[in-house]
Amino acid sequence: MLSLDLPKKSSPSEITQTNRVLVVEDEDLIREMIVLALSEEGYDVVTAADGSTALQLLKNTDNVHPENAIDLIILDLMLPQVNGLDICRLLRYQGNIVPILIISAKGTETDRVLGLEVGADDYLTKPFSMRELVARCRALIRRQRFSSITQQSVRKFKDITLYPDECRVMVRDEEVNLSPKEFRLLDLFMSYPRRVWSREQLIEQVWGADFLGDTKTVDVHIRWLREKLEIEASQPEYVITVRGFGYRFG
Ligand code: CA
Repeated sequence: MLSLDLPKKSSPSEITQTNRVLVVEDEDLIREMIVLALSEEGYDVVTAADGSTALQLLKNTDNVHPENAIDLIILDLMLPQVNGLDICRLLRYQGNIVPILIISAKGTETDRVLGLEVGADDYLTKPFSMRELVARCRALIRRQRFSSITQQSVRKFKDITLYPDECRVMVRDEEVNLSPKEFRLLDLFMSYPRRVWSREQLIEQVWGADFLGDTKTVDVHIRWLREKLEIEASQPEYVITVRGFGYRFG
């Protein structure tokens, strides 16, 4: 007799993981709109209406319920009790690397730079569209996931070996000097061999959301990387141009 409950085939892309977002915002209406938008996207959302509640909540999830860890914080700046910049500073001081997206009515360049300098990952000026907020959340969580995957052991491909922890790369048994950006680019490529990346995706992963240049920067770094990796930079074997899409490794 045939068994009806055959195990379902599952591929890595089917394994879904619920991401938990903490929304720290004292204005009820904005907070509720964010909760609604993120819940619709399948995020698990927790909220705090003031700074000290937020810190308490983070402390509890980190120490008491690590399984409920927060994957992203959406942080207003002007908050009762402890303000957003201080929360940001404190978390980074404690070594907490959770991605932080600041939302604020303060939209000058100085405000944005200050926010990023105290350790936020992205900055969105109020008023903003929920669509943009959701897109940025998704990007931040994805970037965080990539960087935790890329914190694994040694990567090897043909004649290239990359040691992530030592920031070292060997090409045909010789150590090559890469700039930090070149290193991150190669690290990303080697973590996902043959995957095609658009220039925008590479910027998002390597330069980050606060990058102000254009996509030509990617091409320039690819050229430098080829000069260091390839036997013949004009006929690359490693960093391959995929016409109309971007680049892939191998
Ligand atoms: Ca506020």
